[in-house]
Amino acid sequence: MMDSFTFPGLTTRVVFGAGTIARVEEEVRRLGHDKVMVLSTPHQMGDAERLAVSLGGLAAGIFAGAVMHTPVEVTEKAVGAFRGSGASAVVSLGGGSTTGLGKAIAVRTGADQVVIPTTYAGSEMTDILGETAAGEKTTRRSPDIRPETVIYDVDLTLSLPVSLTVTSAMNAIAHAMEALYAPDRNPVIVLMCRDAMIAFKDGIPRLIRDPQDRAARTQALYAAWCCSTALGYVSMALHHKLAHVFGGSFDTPHAETHAILLPYTTAFNETAVPDLLRPITRAFGGGSAGGGLWDFAQSVGSPLSLKAIGIEEADLDRAAAIAVKNAYANPRPIDPGSIRELLQAAWEGRRPGA
Ligand code: NAD
Repeated sequence: MMDSFTFPGLTTRVVFGAGTIARVEEEVRRLGHDKVMVLSTPHQMGDAERLAVSLGGLAAGIFAGAVMHTPVEVTEKAVGAFRGSGASAVVSLGGGSTTGLGKAIAVRTGADQVVIPTTYAGSEMTDILGETAAGEKTTRRSPDIRPETVIYDVDLTLSLPVSLTVTSAMNAIAHAMEALYAPDRNPVIVLMCRDAMIAFKDGIPRLIRDPQDRAARTQALYAAWCCSTALGYVSMALHHKLAHVFGGSFDTPHAETHAILLPYTTAFNETAVPDLLRPITRAFGGGSAGGGLWDFAQSVGSPLSLKAIGIEEADLDRAAAIAVKNAYANPRPIDPGSIRELLQAAWEGRRPGA
């Protein structure tokens, strides 16, 4: 029970279900557009082409060059193609990389965005855009960045490989974990976070056994929507800061980095706000929130150590120094020594508290 809060409302329209890709035309027209550009990664170009064919004259072109971390040189090419096509909106079909490109086009051109997420990373509900220029990643928040409409189609997630299913789910849970102690949290977001954790805890093991299990896919995508909403409407803290440090300065893979750090950042903050993190222990067991998430990560084959993704022990001092350079809100005060200890445990992959 929260004694006081502000609920800002949820502004993005959401269409959820199986086969909902058939509703793209209706949703685009609802926003008042008659020409769209379809975006994807090179890997998902076939899906983008099928979508464009199904849209007929509504599709003014395809840009299938989205890559991780939204490099500005890719965005500039995409903006050129968008302007040349006569489109006034983008349809972003894919994971966070494609959604990021759609946001980068929108913020430069005023285009509306219809996003069809195919991973659990959770960019689609947020007003956050991270972009890379000259090897440096910067992040900003603005209302112009937030997509107008999100179409969740369970069928498009059936092809998500098991390893990405697992790490992407851990990435999503990280948004929910930090939302539970966000100073600007509200009861709607907290309820969504609790429900998401229960849905992932049950759904991910079922997807490991059978990645085509449509009911489990539905559960996981529902959980991803909840977690993306949490990321999009409240503030993040230490966990996202550390993930940004490793992704930005050590070029580690996005979802894996979140997955590895999650039990450690949770355990770190649990000492300051154990009650707020109790929903994690309720969902995952393990006697503590950090321990429960580590047990879950291990049981679903999620990577457990920074060592496993190529970080050297000698890099940890530099990572800790970058992480504490600028002050930011976190439930437990941050100092170089305690962050260095957290990183040591994450590098070794030890169960928190062991
Ligand atoms: P991604 O979008 O790069 O996708 C990874 C790979 O999987 C790509 O090749 C993609 O084409 C493929 N793929 C995606 N869905 C698939 C499916 N259903 N079947 C088969 N292959 C599929 O990875 P991601 O983890 O979704 O996104 C990571 C990026 O998103 C990072 O750049 C991160 O910074 C960003 N992100 C941003 C926010 C935000 O709010 N701004 C939030 C989360 C993530």
